[in-house]
Amino acid sequence: MLPRIANNLKKLPAIDELLRACEPLVKHYGRALLSAELKTQINKTRLDIIAGSLEPESRNSIIESISRQTSVALNSLFEPSIRSVFNLTGVILHTNLGRAPYPQSAIDAMVAISGDACNLEYDLKTGKRGHRDDHVEKWICKLTGAEAATTVNNNAAAVLLVLNTLARKREVLVSRGELIEIGGSFRMPAIMKKSGCKLREVGTTNRTHLSDYESAIGKKTAAIMKVHTSNYEIEGFKKSVSAAQLAPLADKAGVPLIDDMGSGNLVDLTVFGLPYERTAREALSEGIDVITFSGDKLLGGPQCGIIAGKNSIIEQIERNPMKRALRLDKLTLAALECVLKLYATPDRLCAEVPSLRMLTRPVEQLSQTAKNLHHHLSKKFTSGIQCTIEECESQIGSGALPTKTLPSFAVTLTPEKQSIESLARKLRELPRPVIGRVQNEKIYLDVRTLENEDALHESLAFLRIGGDNR
Ligand SMILES: *Cc1c(COP(=O)(O)O)cnc(C)c1O
Repeated sequence: MLPRIANNLKKLPAIDELLRACEPLVKHYGRALLSAELKTQINKTRLDIIAGSLEPESRNSIIESISRQTSVALNSLFEPSIRSVFNLTGVILHTNLGRAPYPQSAIDAMVAISGDACNLEYDLKTGKRGHRDDHVEKWICKLTGAEAATTVNNNAAAVLLVLNTLARKREVLVSRGELIEIGGSFRMPAIMKKSGCKLREVGTTNRTHLSDYESAIGKKTAAIMKVHTSNYEIEGFKKSVSAAQLAPLADKAGVPLIDDMGSGNLVDLTVFGLPYERTAREALSEGIDVITFSGDKLLGGPQCGIIAGKNSIIEQIERNPMKRALRLDKLTLAALECVLKLYATPDRLCAEVPSLRMLTRPVEQLSQTAKNLHHHLSKKFTSGIQCTIEECESQIGSGALPTKTLPSFAVTLTPEKQSIESLARKLRELPRPVIGRVQNEKIYLDVRTLENEDALHESLAFLRIGGDNR
């Protein structure tokens, strides 16, 4: 080793010296965490000295720089990992971005109960043990016409639980046209396997007839299942069998008819100018015995799975020990209760459920929002970036109404002196990250999901793109 380097290494302080120098950090992070980080920083400094890339002036200068680096490292370690972003991707219910934002009433309800004890499973009338689903069951029944209902962690869990309860070790008939993969490893055949039942495929990919189901029914049949083909549509020469047609067949065979509706929908969406999507009430009135759907897709509520239908089936499900493993927590139940109440008073529905509000924003309003954002950005960036307003199409997302898009407006950004990726990264690194969509060599900021324009402008104030930033 060069004598110069050996000499520099002698300047490295001991951990106790550093701990004394970092006294305020001890109070904040505790001695154990601080010592561990200091050791990491000492090692880094040692390697830099050995590599010859660091020539410290004195022991004190090392103490100073290690203290500073440790403080920065611990600070960033404690930054919140999960935080708010601007979803300007044009996908309203974006699974990777947390799907539906909650209505204010649901947020308030969660805050109100989260810091105290609550009557989650306690009947305040009798003083006896209550049931956690009691808080939402009557609302689900009112809104769907079901006899009974229960809730679990998400719709995947709902499907798993229903199949495990009704069809373990036996067969479930599903049309080959409905054997979907949702993404995130939710594949209907895999879920069937995990639930312990045997998938009996009927019909073909594009055409399934009632007679296909009829001839597949046998001693081992435990249920007939319909699955919403959430994220694709078959066009052309196709045929499927409706719930209404299957109901008499299931009845005759004495097996339940299950419908995985995917995105739950409780109201006639065409009233709001949205595409038609079958409601839970319609499914049950067509003769489905038990339905399952998500809470955080079209419904616009918290992540959960809702199971609704015949009393006898819900009772069986409640007795399955798996229900205990999949049950909802108090915060989700509080939020769900509020969302269901909004559906029970539909006059305020579109104004108060954020995802529905975004889905139904008038085009003129979107155009104005895009103009505001464009004006703001063009004023801020007089060079280095091209900024235009373009028409675009928003997607509903989460496998709801996959082939239907909604006309919208975007502000597009084309960087002149850097790559698209570099600009996209800078947008992600803003205090509140901005997530757009990269398309046609541009970044599209679809304004349909932009409600708080001022907050976006505030965040964009931190954007530095090179060129003339004001
Ligand atoms: C989305 C979806 C699921 C999964 O629902 P999660 O709430 O995401 O667990 C299951 N089935 C269908 C048909 C779906 O569209």
